Amino acid sequence: MSLRSASQVTEFARCPRSFALKRHEGAPQLPAPWAGHGSAGHHALLDVWEANGRTHTASEVQEAFVSKFREYIAEYDQREPDRSLWLRGGRKSTDRDIADREALGIEQVANYMQYVTTEGLEPWEIDGRPAVELPFKINIGEGLFGEPIIVRGFIDALYRDVNWVPLVRDLKFGKRPAWDFQLWMYGIAVREEYDIDVEYGDFFLCKENAPTNPVELLKMPDEEVLDLVIKMDAADMIGYYNPNPGEACRTCDVQRSCKFFA
Ligand code: SF4
Repeated sequence: MSLRSASQVTEFARCPRSFALKRHEGAPQLPAPWAGHGSAGHHALLDVWEANGRTHTASEVQEAFVSKFREYIAEYDQREPDRSLWLRGGRKSTDRDIADREALGIEQVANYMQYVTTEGLEPWEIDGRPAVELPFKINIGEGLFGEPIIVRGFIDALYRDVNWVPLVRDLKFGKRPAWDFQLWMYGIAVREEYDIDVEYGDFFLCKENAPTNPVELLKMPDEEVLDLVIKMDAADMIGYYNPNPGEACRTCDVQRSCKFFA
């Protein structure tokens, strides 16, 4: 059995060499405050606020963000005590980047709470629970050597608007992804696993406190989306790990283990 995820496919598309270094060769990964920023933001907004029926106040959600963000930073200090080696945004020091991201995250979580409330978006309910961090596991067919390929993951949120139109949403604390693969895959997962006909998805860009335009999920045929997973699986099976030096190297967390770093 081959276990895949949307993030594996996007990671492989970005640089197959980095995929192999991380997932097969155990290369040490450099800490980056932006990773803690995104994960703590997801924790505060989804695990704390949405999953608990929006019963927490903005200050409680902000506190949850700060506490989780600091946990990540402490973990990164253990992993790499020399902060000058960490990846960070722009030309600032790591300490400055950490302080800036903490302040920004505090603002962003409160902004998001206000935005979705004003827009009238509510999590869909599945089995009496808000559909956030929604798990899925679907069998998409056979790989190169006849093994079943299973795609699994967690969908940030399945919302409904005031007209009960469902929407798959993925929260982004960094840049807009280069392509919509994640949303296409999540659309298939919701339809297959939960039998809900979702036709739209978006990325919510916390930096802009706004969603992207809705992506029409059915415009991309399911077969083409799944074929991307099957081809990525085949490339991994035969060990195709060519490097993709260039833009991706700057934020690559295994750059110190890569001969092709550019
Ligand atoms: S440093 Fe560049 S080429 Fe090397 S693994 Fe990272 S992204 Fe790929």
